[in-house]
Amino acid sequence: MKRRTRQGNAVRSILRESERPLTAAEIHLRASGRWASLGLATTYRHVRKLAEEGLLVGVDYPGQPTRYEWADGQQKIHFGCRACEKLFAVAEEIDFEEPAPPELPPGFQVNGGEWILYGICPECSQKANSQ
Ligand SMILES: [Zn+2]
Repeated sequence: MKRRTRQGNAVRSILRESERPLTAAEIHLRASGRWASLGLATTYRHVRKLAEEGLLVGVDYPGQPTRYEWADGQQKIHFGCRACEKLFAVAEEIDFEEPAPPELPPGFQVNGGEWILYGICPECSQKANSQ
C-alpha cells in the first residue's frame, strides 16, 4: 500500500512540475529517472486513477495519445509543435481572451472547449535557424 502511494505521488509530482502536458509514456520516462521501480503499466494505472478523481485533465491532440496535465482550473490554451509534436500550455504567457463558443444547432450543449494552436516551438525554430 505504501509503495502504491509513493508511486502515485511520483506521478502527481511529475505532472505538477511539468511545463507541458505529458503522455503516460512521457510520465513514465520522467519517473524512471527518479523512481526506477515505476513501470509503464503502473504509470497508466495511476494516470487513469488521477484523471477519474478529476485531478488530471486529458488533452487530446488529434492522432496522438492523450496527454495529461494537472487540473488547476486555469484556462488553458495549447500549442502543438508540428516539428517535435510536443504540446505546450501557453495561456499564462500570452494575453488572449478565449471567444465565446459559436451558436450550435438545437440540442447541443457545450460544457467545455479546447484551443489548440499549431506551429513551431522555440526549441525547434532555434534548431531550424541554426542549420
Ligand atoms: Zn518543437
